[in-house]
Amino acid sequence: MNPELETRLRALVAHLLEENQKFNLTGIKDPNDAWTKHVLDSLEGLDTELFDESQSVVDVGTGAGFPGLVLALARPQLSVSFLEATRKKCTFIEATAAKFEIKRARIINERAEDAGQSDRYRASFDVATARAVGSFAEVAELCLPLVRVGGSVALWRGENAEAEAQNAEEALDDLGGFLRDVRPYELPGLPTRYHMVTIEKVNDTPRDFPRRSGIPKQKPLA
Ligand code: SAH
Repeated sequence: MNPELETRLRALVAHLLEENQKFNLTGIKDPNDAWTKHVLDSLEGLDTELFDESQSVVDVGTGAGFPGLVLALARPQLSVSFLEATRKKCTFIEATAAKFEIKRARIINERAEDAGQSDRYRASFDVATARAVGSFAEVAELCLPLVRVGGSVALWRGENAEAEAQNAEEALDDLGGFLRDVRPYELPGLPTRYHMVTIEKVNDTPRDFPRRSGIPKQKPLA
């Protein structure tokens, strides 16, 4: 990693942990742990090469800003939209983006189901990302409508990504998606086998999706 970027990312972790004492944004309290689980994990997305050429990214259910903040710092050409239902997390990201001079940040304090049906955001992004937001089918339904045809979705998944993806094959088809890749990776010192899943949007998503707020979670398509 280039030293300048590493310095900025270390400062991001320090800032997150400091603000966490006031706002309770993440369960991770140890700096080394936060470095691995938030920063190094977010950086795994760069391997997909999706963030090199693309211009607009929406990070769905970004929470305290992961992977969105890390991607924005690592690839400054990106315009990153942070989509998050909880207001206090949006407030944190707004202040953080200003502090770290992330110029092309946009904070969207909405549910992904609403953003995905609004003319403003639907089919408007090159890439959608989601980490730790919900089941495979749920996040696919939240992410695919936001991406333009030809764009992609990158999902940070856990141990069972292969099976989840296979199980959701038909659901992906219904949403206009096509499974591109499921790539295993590990993080230093952790036993888990994580997976980076990439989905291409090959067709328009039918207007029925995303279904109304809460349904993608309660009645997942797969
Ligand atoms: N991506 C972050 C946060 C994961 S926690 C990380 O990996 O650290 C999941 C976050 O998604 C929570 O902050 C929750 O408020 C948000 N979320 C869940 N469902 C959502 C929805 N339908 N629309 C918008 N935000 C949602």
